[in-house]
Amino acid sequence: MMRNELDQTELSLEAAGRRMFELAQELYPLHRSITGSGVRRTLDILAERVPLKTVEVPTGSKVLDWEVPQEWSIRDAFIADADGNRLVDYKASNLHVVNYSQPIKQRMRWGELKDHLTTLPEQPDWIPYRTAYFRDLWGFCLTHRKFLELNESPDREVEVCIDATFEDGGLSYGELCLPGELEDEVLISTHICHPSLANDNLSGIVVATELARRLAMQPRRYTYRFIFVPATIGAITWLSQNRDNIHRVKHGLILSGVGNADGLTYKRSRRGHAKVDRAFAHVLGQSGSPHTIRDFTPTGYDERQFCSPGFNLPMGCLMRTPNGEYPEYHTSADDLEFLSEASLAGTVATCLSVFEVLDHDKRFVNQNPFGEPQLGRRGLYRANGEQLANPLLQQAILWVLNLSDGRHGLLDVAERSAMPFDVIKEAAVLLERHELIAPVEFAANLDSDNSAAVAASEAILDQVSIETPFLNAH
Ligand code: ZN
Repeated sequence: MMRNELDQTELSLEAAGRRMFELAQELYPLHRSITGSGVRRTLDILAERVPLKTVEVPTGSKVLDWEVPQEWSIRDAFIADADGNRLVDYKASNLHVVNYSQPIKQRMRWGELKDHLTTLPEQPDWIPYRTAYFRDLWGFCLTHRKFLELNESPDREVEVCIDATFEDGGLSYGELCLPGELEDEVLISTHICHPSLANDNLSGIVVATELARRLAMQPRRYTYRFIFVPATIGAITWLSQNRDNIHRVKHGLILSGVGNADGLTYKRSRRGHAKVDRAFAHVLGQSGSPHTIRDFTPTGYDERQFCSPGFNLPMGCLMRTPNGEYPEYHTSADDLEFLSEASLAGTVATCLSVFEVLDHDKRFVNQNPFGEPQLGRRGLYRANGEQLANPLLQQAILWVLNLSDGRHGLLDVAERSAMPFDVIKEAAVLLERHELIAPVEFAANLDSDNSAAVAASEAILDQVSIETPFLNAH
C-alpha cells in the first residue's frame, strides 16, 4: 500500500524536496496542453504515487458558459530550409510551437512568417511560451538571437510544418478524495496544462501530490479533495460537474508557482477574511520567513473561477513570485534549474501547518470560568509542573482558558495572543484532559463573516449557558 511506502526518513522535508524534484524531472518533458495525451500521461504518472482517478469529459460538453474543445494532438513541427535542415525544431523544445496551433504545411519566404513568430528581444536566449486556445491561428516561438540570425535572409525559402490534428475526444482531469470525519471539504486545486515549464505548473503538481501522500497517512477531520485540472477550462469543467456538491467546500487553496527561490505570497480569497485567509496569515506571520499577503484580484489563475461571484468559494492562492512578476515566467528559462528543492519542501510545510489549523480550530467552553481554576493543583502551573518547562505553553493555557467562552475558536486564540497555533492547540489538549474546558460541537465552518453561522453560534451559546455548570460550578 502507498500508505506504508514512506518511513520516517522519507517523511523528512529534505527527502520530500528531493522526491518532488525527481517527480518534476519525470514530468518536465511531457507536452501538456489543455487536452490530450500529455495531460493523460501526466495524470497516469501521478496515479502511480497517489490514488488519483482520471475523469474524462467529452468534447462538446457544455460546461457553464463554455464548451469542452476538441483535443489537439501534435506529432511534429518545424521550419526548415530548402535543404531540409530544421531551423526551428519542435523536437528540440515543445515551446517552439504555439500550443493549440492550427496545422499547416506550406513553402514560403522567411519574411512572410513575421506575423507567426514570437520572440523576447529583452531576453534573447529564451524561448517564449504562447498558446492559441479558443483562437484560430498558428505560430512558432524562438529565441530572439536565432530570429535575428535567420532574419538576415528574409527572402530565404522555408518549409513550414505543424503536423497537428483537432479531433473529438475529451478533457481529462485528475481527482483524489481523502475522506475525513466530516463530509465538509478542503479543496486543493492545481493546473496541469503547461508543457515543459517547471515553476509554472510542475511545482504545483508535485507539491499537491506530496501533500496528498502525507494527508493520506494522518487522521483528518475534514475531507481533503485534490483536483489536477487544465487552467480555466478544466476548473470550469470541474465546477460545472460538481455544482451540486460545491457547498461542501469549506476551505480551499490554489497552488501555482510554488517552487522558485523566493518567499511565499498568499493571495486572499474573494471573501477576504475566510478562515483559510486567516490561517495563512497566521502561519506565515509565525514562520519568521519573508512572505507577502495580497488581497484578492480577479486575475491570475483559477481563483478567477472558484472565486467568481456565483461560487465565491473560500479559496486563496499560494504562490512564490506571482505570475508575470518574474522574467522567467512563461519562457524556457522556467526550467528545472529554476526550481528549488528547499522551496518545494517549504511550501509543503506551510500548507501542512495551515491544514493543521483548519483541522484543529475547535471551540471550547471553560468549565470553571469564575476566576482562574487553580492550575498548580493540577500540575498546570510552572511553579509546580515540570511539563510546563515551555513558558509559552503556560501563557497559552491562560489564553485558552480566558477565550474559551464557546464563541472563540483556537485560531481566534492564536491570533489574539500572537502565539503559534501548535502551542495553543497543545494547551487545549492539556486543559481538555484536565476537564477544564469542554469542546463545543459547532457546524464545521463557523466563519465570522458568515452571518448564518454566527446566528447558529449565538443559539449554541444560549444552550451552553443553560447546560454547562457555569452557575453552580462553585
Ligand atoms: Zn502559466
